[in-house]
Amino acid sequence: MNVPKHSFIVWLAVQQRLVTKDRLLKFGIITDAVCDMCLAHQEDHHHLLYGCPFSAQSLELFERLVNINMPLVGVFGMGTSPALSFFLEEAVVLAAMVALVYHIWTVRNKCRIELQLPRPCRVLADVQATARLHRMIKT
Ligand SMILES: [Zn+2]
Repeated sequence: MNVPKHSFIVWLAVQQRLVTKDRLLKFGIITDAVCDMCLAHQEDHHHLLYGCPFSAQSLELFERLVNINMPLVGVFGMGTSPALSFFLEEAVVLAAMVALVYHIWTVRNKCRIELQLPRPCRVLADVQATARLHRMIKT
């Protein structure tokens, strides 16, 4: 259920091949590897996706969303067998997690270029919009 461009970014992230500032610093392309989103730590894959306060807040909002309300899942869980419903719910949550990584990466890139950091709830809204759009395409 993943959006292909989201899968590609996660594939790069899993292999630690995103063009993060620590890699650019290693190759001598830049001289400053400070994270543009928090301006406090060196940007590497772990910091970008887990350690940065922006990413941590986005992940926390996402976890609250899927654990409490399950709006991403509910639309797929209607009228199917329990086993299929479970599979679809898992697939939707995983697709949403992949979208979350993609949108954090997108925010990071926009932050570098436009010097503006949206609120983490904006990332969550983008993830939800992606899930809704994906649902419309698949049904
Ligand atoms: Zn940061």
